[in-house]
Amino acid sequence: MTVITIGIDLGTTFSCVATIDEHGKPIVLKNEDGNSITPSVVAFERAGNVIVGDEAKNIQSLGDANVASFFKREMGNPDFYLTFYGKQYSPTDLSAYILAKLKADAEKVLGKAITKAVITCPAYFNAMQREEVKKAGKLAGLDVLRVINEPTAAAVAFGIKSEKEQTLLVYDLGGGTFDVTLMKITADEIAVLATDGNHQLGGKDWDDTLREYAVDKFQEEFAENPLEDSATANDLLVAAENTKKTLSQKTTTNFVIAYNGNKGRYEITREQFEDATKHLINQTLTLCESVLAAKQMDWKNIDGVLLVGGSTRMPQVESELKKHTDNLLHGINVDEAVAIGAAIQADLDANEKHYTLETKQSSSKSGYTLEGRRTIRDVTGQSLGMIAENADRSKYINTIIIPRNTNIPSCEVRPFQLRTSSRQDNEIEVYVTQGEGLLPSGCVILGKYVISGITHEKGKAVCDIAYHYDKSGTVEVSAKQRSTDKNLTVRKDNPGDMSWTDLCPKDRDPEPELEHVTVLLTVDTSGSMCGDPINEAIKAAHRFVNEIDLTHCSVGLMMVADRVLMLCYPTQNSKEIGRAIDTLNRPSDIPSENIYGAPLNLDAGVGNAAQPFTEARQCFDNIDGIKFMLVLADGVWDNQPYAVQEAKKCHADGIEVAALGFGGADKKFLHDIASCEENAIFTNMNQLGESFSKIAQVITEGKTELQRRN
Ligand code: ADP
Ligand code: MG
Repeated sequence: MTVITIGIDLGTTFSCVATIDEHGKPIVLKNEDGNSITPSVVAFERAGNVIVGDEAKNIQSLGDANVASFFKREMGNPDFYLTFYGKQYSPTDLSAYILAKLKADAEKVLGKAITKAVITCPAYFNAMQREEVKKAGKLAGLDVLRVINEPTAAAVAFGIKSEKEQTLLVYDLGGGTFDVTLMKITADEIAVLATDGNHQLGGKDWDDTLREYAVDKFQEEFAENPLEDSATANDLLVAAENTKKTLSQKTTTNFVIAYNGNKGRYEITREQFEDATKHLINQTLTLCESVLAAKQMDWKNIDGVLLVGGSTRMPQVESELKKHTDNLLHGINVDEAVAIGAAIQADLDANEKHYTLETKQSSSKSGYTLEGRRTIRDVTGQSLGMIAENADRSKYINTIIIPRNTNIPSCEVRPFQLRTSSRQDNEIEVYVTQGEGLLPSGCVILGKYVISGITHEKGKAVCDIAYHYDKSGTVEVSAKQRSTDKNLTVRKDNPGDMSWTDLCPKDRDPEPELEHVTVLLTVDTSGSMCGDPINEAIKAAHRFVNEIDLTHCSVGLMMVADRVLMLCYPTQNSKEIGRAIDTLNRPSDIPSENIYGAPLNLDAGVGNAAQPFTEARQCFDNIDGIKFMLVLADGVWDNQPYAVQEAKKCHADGIEVAALGFGGADKKFLHDIASCEENAIFTNMNQLGESFSKIAQVITEGKTELQRRN
């Protein structure tokens, strides 16, 4: 039996509900007042009544102060509360009132009880904010099947109508937020490639600017500031929004301000309005360009821009976007598309069609048809990371585990090592972050995860910690002890005061538990490496970075061809290393500051073979802790005796050299450059990943000489 579900666009200014009717067609459900969108406004009455939607918005425009709106911008902010008649409400509580109203109105139209829903949120909402959306749904009596991104939902609504394959930007300018998403619609998939946004940018900022503009004129004329009176300020905001909307229709209108017995009447043209708000529209265009750049794209690489959100009705949006693209897609209702996409997803989820979209409604006039299958693939808008100490223990840093724009759901496992005690409980505390900041203070701290139940073992215990992004973009953490393969207990605590992350780790705890390890990956990319071998090496290097414990290890990357290039100095930032690894087979992408002199000649052999060792000694010069150089080679180097001589200097400097060879690598040479017998490893191309993985494990477990395991 088909389960009736709804999709809810929980907007900053307006919300909307849709469902799939008995013919399989998505429809928008009108509210009690007969409108397809409901203002996201909640009014509180002294008697304890709570009024939501159109009526609440009317109450607000009369200047009543006991009205809440625009709280979605504060969702997930633990310090944000609004107080009405002595009671505090969080943005989650307020959202729950809206959801409850939407649910009740939908039930009236459908004549049935509804419990299952998909709710949308801006793509850049962090995991905590998504949790809050789920919580609000639960408070409203809904079983939230999942939380999906607004632009993805819009694209789903559009995508199922689209007949051709295309790459699109979804430009969603709402009342309080701006979201931009790069998507690809193919015959069998709707995939999000990248997303970005600004949750403090929306139609309201245009209203504010317009109000400011008129108030300036009033002040010039009467030398009085009407914004000093909060009721007038509120009225003027409502007037500004109306004026803005009028300017979407007409090229000129009047803005009237009456205050303190004075009345000013100002003519405003569309052109003046557009000039005054140019900086706002430019911010949206910059974000569009950065999302394109995230996928090495440009305006010319997209087939069109899909407009979503009420503010895209401003003619300015269209005229500015037209400068960059010929194709603005109007195929959808900007107010309803998000709810419709959510309704489609809800139907898929509840009726167990999983990710596959098969709509049979091909005869429907409205055109919501889809032939064949569509998979919906979304990405995470923000990187997931954790707090670690940097190599010299001078500061706390954010190390990224799952980079932004990774497909969700997604899971990454990272090792963590610790010394255990037989006398007391052994615990690990991991602070999970979200955001792109290099320092913890530049990120949102999602929580303190305490991992316990670790069994005492000799040496260092290794726990593999798994970080999951689920299909809603919320985060879960699980852990296993490697030696016992036992699942460990994970408890999520409130992170509390995080000001310690601004301190110096060395000062807080002079004795490090584990010594820092610096690894310099050195890859011979000359001659014979071209093609498959280099691609295998890239895969293996990525695996190595994933499997090493970056909380106390740094990894650098050096490339050896006719010259030696330092592609990445040792760092704990997995993203940075990852990017450098990817340039191994794309020398044209290597930043020019890395290219000394002439362009690289990849077809030549290794020129001065000693150079990598000379370079490595320099690189390690100021680094403390365990130093490790891992050389990957598949051929024979020029001037080998000199290379061996320089490698020996590395050994003398305390740099442990391991040599990994395959293909035509010279075994004797590998032995000569390695610091000990065990560190010369001969493998084959298909085993490269395994070999790198073993080395990462050994390093993570705190051993050095590579094959002396057990
Ligand atoms: P959200 O999803 O953030 O709730 P919406 O997508 O519903 O927002 O858009 C609401 C915004 O659209 C408001 O700022 C509103 O003023 C603006 N808007 C609606 N209609 C028009 C119009 N005709 N011209 C300009 N702006 C408009
Ligand atoms: Mg919206």
